[in-house]
Amino acid sequence: MRIAQDLIDEIVAHSRDDLPNECCGLIGGRDGSATTVHRARNSAATWLRYELHPTDQLRIMNAIEEEGEELVDIYHSHTKSAAYPSQTDVNLADAWPDPLYLICSLEHADAPVVRAFAIRDGGVEEVELDVG
Ligand SMILES: [Zn+2]
Repeated sequence: MRIAQDLIDEIVAHSRDDLPNECCGLIGGRDGSATTVHRARNSAATWLRYELHPTDQLRIMNAIEEEGEELVDIYHSHTKSAAYPSQTDVNLADAWPDPLYLICSLEHADAPVVRAFAIRDGGVEEVELDVG
């Protein structure tokens, strides 16, 4: 999946802004390219998991549609663990298997890591990010 460096930077910035909690948001795009990062609130407001705020989710989905784009990624942060889906993430993805899942790890504060995954039918498969 193609994604610009400034979008990665925005995801990292959001992850840092929402510490100590996990952050979450949606990314619009088309044809396998990410184009717009939309921040959402984490209703769960904890470092343990994320829960897209329903009002934000609706507002962002409308915005993505109005731009003629589609939801290509759901992103969230891991504040203390690696950028790999937890069992909770895998369970959550059951309801929404089409978008990819971007995870930003702040496990090492000065060296954030962003990775992307397809999570379908309980299975996790890493997807290469083409950053540039
Ligand atoms: Zn997670």
